[in-house]
Amino acid sequence: MKDFELNGRVAIVTGGNGGIGLGMARGLAAAGASVVVAARNAAKNAAAVSELDLLGAHAVALEVDVRDETSCRRMVEQTVERFGRLDILVNNAGTNVRKQPEDYSLAEWRELIDTNLTSAFLCSNAAYPAMKKGGGGKIINIGSIMSIFGAAFTAPYAASKGGIVQMGRAMACAWGKDNIQVNCILPGWIDTDLTQRARRDIEGLHERVLARTPARRWGTPADLAGIAVFLASPASDFVTGTAIPVDGGYSVQG
Ligand code: NDP
Repeated sequence: MKDFELNGRVAIVTGGNGGIGLGMARGLAAAGASVVVAARNAAKNAAAVSELDLLGAHAVALEVDVRDETSCRRMVEQTVERFGRLDILVNNAGTNVRKQPEDYSLAEWRELIDTNLTSAFLCSNAAYPAMKKGGGGKIINIGSIMSIFGAAFTAPYAASKGGIVQMGRAMACAWGKDNIQVNCILPGWIDTDLTQRARRDIEGLHERVLARTPARRWGTPADLAGIAVFLASPASDFVTGTAIPVDGGYSVQG
């Protein structure tokens, strides 16, 4: 299984201090990668690093706001200063506000697009020179099943998650020559802080998710670890530009 090993590789996981990001960070760490947890909340960052340390990983936290170009560039610079290279970037940081389309303010629209989509553009562009210099790299974007279809309460979120798939495909075409693979994971309904809010706000959501998901359960952050390791490892060197649902079958249920 050498093709799945990440020993000596260095990964940044934005939003790696909780939820899906931490689930993927645990997987990357267990496969041998050094992991940079990049998010805003210093206390959550420190707790995540302690957890990754217990897995025997070299983990560090950086306070990063992915909406800010300077912060994204500094994140990459500090990673390269600390570890000497950057092999894997997971663009996971994200947020949501659920409303009817006509009820969003322009500020809310911009906040969602900046956090979920422009962030991945900024971090990927910041990472590109270091990956190219290192002979290649892996960029893993986090979309959503809302990259595939819509729902009444998701206009800016669905725009950001559709956009991240298409942006990633364009980058996959541009950077294939540099041995950089760019892929997207589309999580289904995963139990995290983000969806705890949705379960409270949307009546009947919990039951509807269970009824539509062939696996008959919500996903957990651990369900995303395997796909993250695959897309970060040499096992996926000929896989690029894809968008892979990890949703217990939610998106194929007719
Ligand atoms: P959480 O709310 O649990 O985690 C979101 C993470 O993003 C936190 O670590 C947060 O850290 C970080 N973050 C948010 N804004 C910023 C910012 N401006 N700068 C840096 N970090 C930021 O959500 P999930 O784990 O559920 O979501 C992770 C990703 O998965 C998101 O992109 C989400 O859209 C996507 N997703 C989630 C699904 C689900 O069912 N849970 C389904 C499909 C996609 P901090 O606040 O400390 O900055």
